[in-house]
Amino acid sequence: MAERPLNLKRILKESRRLAARYRVFRGSSFRLKHVDPADTAEFTDEDKPRAKEALARGVQALAHLQEKLYAQDSWALLVVFQAMDAAGKDGAIKHVMSGVNPEGCQVYSFKAPSTEELDHDFLWRCAKALPERGRIGIFNRSYYEEVLVVRVHPELLQRQKLPRDLITKRIWKERCQDIRAFERHIARSGVAIVKFFLHLSKKEQKKRFLERLDLPEKNWKFSEADVREREYWNDYMNAYEDAIRRTATRYAPWYVVPADNKWFTRIIVATAIIDTLAALDLQFPKVTGEKKRELARARRSLLA
Ligand code: ATP
Ligand code: MG
Repeated sequence: MAERPLNLKRILKESRRLAARYRVFRGSSFRLKHVDPADTAEFTDEDKPRAKEALARGVQALAHLQEKLYAQDSWALLVVFQAMDAAGKDGAIKHVMSGVNPEGCQVYSFKAPSTEELDHDFLWRCAKALPERGRIGIFNRSYYEEVLVVRVHPELLQRQKLPRDLITKRIWKERCQDIRAFERHIARSGVAIVKFFLHLSKKEQKKRFLERLDLPEKNWKFSEADVREREYWNDYMNAYEDAIRRTATRYAPWYVVPADNKWFTRIIVATAIIDTLAALDLQFPKVTGEKKRELARARRSLLA
């Protein structure tokens, strides 16, 4: 798409408004059923082209903010993605980050833990992957799996080699407390945190799975295991709701993003990231007197 001059102020204002609609920073009043996976805010289906343009402008704005983040080299940004299969995590990451300098952005995908990882506490592998100052770190799945898939499938917990006495029925609550404490700790050392739950309906998931079966170019994405997980849908929704209620905070808010329409999901993801970065008041480092003299010397020597 052709680059247009960027009205950053306007984009920031728009992002602020749209993002707020899906943000959860106080868990106690949150209910998953209050978010409709098919919601598209004020956009209708006819607005799709307008929505695509909005996303393109958002991507440009994001690139601009990331440049400042990188130059300032003080804050880092952690973006967590959680969702059921086929909710569009990968596509959202790919589209929203498409304008960002790859050097300033790292994506980590967390799969079932390795033997080495199981020999440590559950935050260990994620702590190692946190973004450095000036960078954006994206977690495609995260330590939240420890209160989601592990909660839905207790046999996974048995495999974690925890001392027996520590496995009680309070464990999910305790893990959420530990996650809050961990997030507060990294927030206090300069990691801004934004967490997404892409909220897909069971019906739309079925449609997307069928597409994976029907379209040869999507066959590779299909996995029988994903279909089996559908049987646990309600358990997952309960686990998500509980986790979000317990870990939504001012310093690490959740965004519960309607995910039945991919184009809409991407807009909300972009606006929420933009809004988070905008709140940091990023600045390019000031050019000091000494630096100015250095630049002047360089200019003279180049012209000589
Ligand atoms: P895609 O299917 O789009 O490639 P994905 O994120 O679903 O992406 P998969 O390799 O299909 O990737 O799945 C990763 C699996 O690892 C998921 O089923 C997830 O629940 C599981 N997983 C992630 N973290 C943990 C964990 N801490 N304990 C157990 N299982 C985990
Ligand atoms: Mg998968």
